Amino acid sequence: MKNVAKKLTAREYEINFAELHPAFTPNAAVVEANRCLYCYDSPCTQACPTHIDIPTFIKKISTGNLKGSAKTILESNWIALTCAKACPVKVLCEGACVYNEKGEEPIRIGRLQRHAMDWFYDHKTPPLFAPAPRNGKSVGIIGAGPAGLACAAELALLGYEVTIYEAKNKAGGLDTWGIAPYKMMQKDSMKEVKFIKSLGVKIKTNTRVGKDVALKQLERKHVAIFIGAGLGRPTSLHIPGEKLKGVVDALDFIERVTPRQWHRVDVGKRVAVIGAGNTAIDAATEAKRLGAEEVYLIYRRSEKEMPAYDFEFELAKSDGIQFYFQTAPKRILGKTVVEGIECIKMRLGKPDAEGRRRPEPIPRSEFRLAVDMVIKSVGQNIEETFLAKIPNLETNDGMVVVKSESYQTTNSKYFAGGDCINGGKEVVNAAHDGKAAAQGMDQFFNEQ
Ligand code: SF4
Repeated sequence: MKNVAKKLTAREYEINFAELHPAFTPNAAVVEANRCLYCYDSPCTQACPTHIDIPTFIKKISTGNLKGSAKTILESNWIALTCAKACPVKVLCEGACVYNEKGEEPIRIGRLQRHAMDWFYDHKTPPLFAPAPRNGKSVGIIGAGPAGLACAAELALLGYEVTIYEAKNKAGGLDTWGIAPYKMMQKDSMKEVKFIKSLGVKIKTNTRVGKDVALKQLERKHVAIFIGAGLGRPTSLHIPGEKLKGVVDALDFIERVTPRQWHRVDVGKRVAVIGAGNTAIDAATEAKRLGAEEVYLIYRRSEKEMPAYDFEFELAKSDGIQFYFQTAPKRILGKTVVEGIECIKMRLGKPDAEGRRRPEPIPRSEFRLAVDMVIKSVGQNIEETFLAKIPNLETNDGMVVVKSESYQTTNSKYFAGGDCINGGKEVVNAAHDGKAAAQGMDQFFNEQ
């Protein structure tokens, strides 16, 4: 990089990456839990993709029954600590809380869930769940991300032998590698991995299916296979200069930040982030918190159309990120390293097939920004090459097609869930899919 941002002191890094939503004290948790109205139809539960019985777990917190509370949560969601910290609660459970209608603050469901889950992981409790006796059936799972972990835990509980094959050196997928460290720590994800292993699940890390172990081997060994492979490599910008030193993918950048070894992560003095989704916002705020002096976020559509949640946008603004809306990158400048970026202003053109007005460049509106680093965050490709190796597997627009109840694919040996069936949603959606697919698989074998 031409200009690297000045390293901060250890204390400054810790302040910059302190938790956005710290834990409740025990008293504060009880006070907050006592605000819950225990609504009969609990809209909060309906809004949660895993349908956690929210009023019940909150009630248990109010009576000091934290073990029972954790059990209620885990019965619906195997990766509940990650979800407590990383879920966009404002648009899910808390967004549905009846207090919003009264113009009052919703119950802090995410922080209460975290309170119960922290207690569970900080205390040695007798096992909360007793797996059923082994049924002699073995299932292979591709990918130890949230969908794979949830599927594995549920299957283990139902009596299956489960082996997860994970390409990376640590399990957890996005929970371990892709969540901003001021939202949750990598060690939280590892607690969940350890818990799921305690149910009898085997996890083979550093094992890429199709390279370190053949798909055929898996098919011979297991009666069923769950695809929880997530998405593939990030999408390219397709502009000149993309190969210059200093151009990085947002997920790779975030992955380098999550282990909290701040001094090891170089960041440019001036950084341009391309894209305006939640990952782009994470990358931009992390770059700023690592010491970048200027961070520009460049998005070809308008503020109204940016895919990031409002609260993420507010966070980025409070971190001093500068937004360039209706602006597209044209080329990245520099001989061997990034020295700048040339952009062009955009305006909304004619509506496309979906009725969405397409942004189009305004002639002669080019301008340049001097930057030392470009972070690309314009989406991820689907793992099409890998999926194409599975016979009779139907895909739609690259995504695996599954039956809505059972999550079984068009190849009856395979089930699938998470990002590879939805193109990239929240961790909590993957947690739901994995559990539902395990139940679908079990029903399939019971009916045979
Ligand atoms: Fe409690 Fe709010 Fe859920 Fe009602 S909607 S049960 S008040 S958390």
